[in-house]
Amino acid sequence: MSKAKQTPSGECPQCWEHAYDKRIHRRLKPREDCLPCLDHLHNGCPDFNRK
Ligand SMILES: [Zn+2]
Ligand SMILES: [Zn+2]
Repeated sequence: MSKAKQTPSGECPQCWEHAYDKRIHRRLKPREDCLPCLDHLHNGCPDFNRK
């Protein structure tokens, strides 16, 4: 069991997962943006600081 896989309380699971699992972003094309990350970046994270 990897510690990095477990989202600490207070952290956004999506952001945490993408920050630690680089394979998720590696699947994207070089110029392609990660939509979930962009969404959280601009709008905040659901259930945390969503505007
Ligand atoms: Zn991402
Ligand atoms: Zn997030």
